[in-house]
Amino acid sequence: MKIVLASSNPHKVKEINEIVKGNILDIEGIENIEFVLPPDGFDPDETGTTFSENSLIKAKAAWELSHTWTLADDSGLCIDALGGKPGIYSARYAETPQKRIERVLRELDGISNRKAHFICAMTLISPFGEVAAAYEGICEGSIITEARGINGFGYDPIFLPDGYNQTIAELSEDEKNRISHRSRALVQILNYIKNC
Ligand code: IMP
Repeated sequence: MKIVLASSNPHKVKEINEIVKGNILDIEGIENIEFVLPPDGFDPDETGTTFSENSLIKAKAAWELSHTWTLADDSGLCIDALGGKPGIYSARYAETPQKRIERVLRELDGISNRKAHFICAMTLISPFGEVAAAYEGICEGSIITEARGINGFGYDPIFLPDGYNQTIAELSEDEKNRISHRSRALVQILNYIKNC
């Protein structure tokens, strides 16, 4: 079963296929699911005010081009002491990933409440264009004061998941995939598809 992943990022498609094929999430009966890039022309405006809204916008845009099963995700980092920022602006919080990390650390300078979470909203659209399932996955943790580790991407070097002494950027890909917000949303979607 092929499912269009509403993303123009081949790395994201590869990551999700690895989670499924490697059965990292221990779900039986999903071996024949394969995620593929959307047809050319996928470039929606993410004008939503929540992760769920943006996920729905992306899912509908990819469905319009493919008319088949379509999955979209929208994710980001929310920091309690910053009122949930960078939130839906995570990818645009500064010009480069390094500058985004520096901005977060600057804004948290001197603040003792470092609680934060990654969130991922996923929307699955059926071949008929209807929302079949919508789920969120959350990874709770805190922001450390200096970046550590080289794996992963985005804010991984400053995010310490609850119960770990390593940042996500210090964990292996498999370890990240077991606890990430994306995996936690994906597990629910895969269980839904499997039981269809
Ligand atoms: P997207 O919606 O998955 O493209 O994520 C939007 C932005 O949120 C990314 O550009 C990153 O800055 C941040 N982000 C989302 N997921 C992660 C993650 O797993 N690790 C680190 N940063 C993330």
